[in-house]
Amino acid sequence: MKNETSSGAKMRTPDKLYEGYVFDLDGTIYLGDELLPGARRMVEKLREHGKRVVFLSNNPTKGLKDYVEKLTRLGLPTPEEDIVNTVVTATEYLLRNHPGATVYPISEQPLKDALSEAGIRMSENPEEIDIVIASYDRGFEYRKLQIAFDAIWFHGRAWLMTTNPDRYCPFPGGRGEPDAAAIVGAIEGCTGGKCRVNVGKPDPVMLETIKGMLGLDAKDCVMTGDRLYTEIRMAKGAGMPSAVVLTGETKAEDLENESPDNLPDYVLDRIDKLIPEDIWSESGWKEDDG
Ligand SMILES: [Mg+2]
Repeated sequence: MKNETSSGAKMRTPDKLYEGYVFDLDGTIYLGDELLPGARRMVEKLREHGKRVVFLSNNPTKGLKDYVEKLTRLGLPTPEEDIVNTVVTATEYLLRNHPGATVYPISEQPLKDALSEAGIRMSENPEEIDIVIASYDRGFEYRKLQIAFDAIWFHGRAWLMTTNPDRYCPFPGGRGEPDAAAIVGAIEGCTGGKCRVNVGKPDPVMLETIKGMLGLDAKDCVMTGDRLYTEIRMAKGAGMPSAVVLTGETKAEDLENESPDNLPDYVLDRIDKLIPEDIWSESGWKEDDG
């Protein structure tokens, strides 16, 4: 199905259902505290057809229970097993690759709780820290920076990883809040070292976690998000078909200036355009409802 929006951008929508669907949340399924138009009926339709639906988020300030609570409150009840964020990927990455490491998370409580539940040792003593984890931390302060600096630079034993590479977290209305990249920047700035590992989108660590959850071939799934440099880039790296939805960060005019290598397979003006046209007709859907 091809059509044009009022801005003239070319929309490209799928003409078949895939086996698995991976969705970014903010700007894709909801914006702030409201579901985006068509999100609810789309997810319900996919589940009705027995398709696997998984949600992802780079935000490490929330635990899975917070997402379950929010999606349920917005009218999209979803079990924990269908959600992954960087609290999950950071914990899994450490268990898989550095099981005995002592870590120092510069983070909010959900990451600390998950690390503790997974039996990962945490310490604020720079002499025994192996890995400093820079995260989105609204309680960041000079004391924490000093611990990271001592562990990495003075004792020369720790290295730096981050939960997510985001510079800021966007809010409705165009404002935002400094995100994990700000903490990484502070630590890199004083130690002169580089952050070695990122476990958020678009990194393969996030992708491996999702592939494990889906249990499907990448080519049988489609990843949908509102950012070309996170969801779309990660999907392309994995050989997974991808779709950008223009309800968040990416605008129609951004696509015109982008190199074809960075463009997704599909461009949607509403998230429910992921559902093929024949199912729209048989369900009697109209654009102005849902
Ligand atoms: Mg988003």
